[in-house]
Amino acid sequence: MLNLVLFGPPGAGKGTQSAKLIERYSLVHLSTGDIFRANIKGETELGLLAKSFMDKGQLVPDEVTINMLSAEVKKNPDAKGFIFDGFPRTSAQASALDELLNSMDSSISLMLALEVEEAELKRRLLIRGKDSGRADDQDPAVIQKRIDVYNAETFPVRDYYQAQNKYKGVDGIGEIETIFNQLCTEIDSL
Ligand code: ADP
Repeated sequence: MLNLVLFGPPGAGKGTQSAKLIERYSLVHLSTGDIFRANIKGETELGLLAKSFMDKGQLVPDEVTINMLSAEVKKNPDAKGFIFDGFPRTSAQASALDELLNSMDSSISLMLALEVEEAELKRRLLIRGKDSGRADDQDPAVIQKRIDVYNAETFPVRDYYQAQNKYKGVDGIGEIETIFNQLCTEIDSL
């Protein structure tokens, strides 16, 4: 299996690059943010719970997120591999993911990180807020909170993969196609 973690702060371009990568490598895309938003739209219990955290720029609790992600992985027994987008966002999520993949005799192949500086992230998120109507992209205080949470809780996850020699960073500023080609080069050299 080819299992990729697409990593980076809010607004780094993970969704855009995931869409291109799943097509090139025939992978299943699991975006925890997208799954939560689908649940919010469907007014499920999970959606209601997730919304209360997402609206404030906080993380949905680990236990909830891990259970939801595990269920999604198990829905795809024939997958050639996965792109995990927006997951893992905490060290607890990273070890839970390892355990899950281990139980399937698989593992993470690579963590690909999109590196984008903070000022550019804020600029992109405000534009996305106008275009998509996503509530968490419209309020500068919520955007700042998400970046702060990323720096405090999510950024350290990089060390987890670096320690296993699985971390590759790519410049996330530039043409979408140029960034995509750099990601493909990393994957193809596995
Ligand atoms: P972005 O990375 O642009 O902020 P996402 O769509 O990935 O957007 O996530 C939106 C929100 O969903 C996050 O701010 C958080 O509240 C929640 N969320 C997504 N993934 C996770 C996760 N792995 N753990 C906890 N909360 C999550």
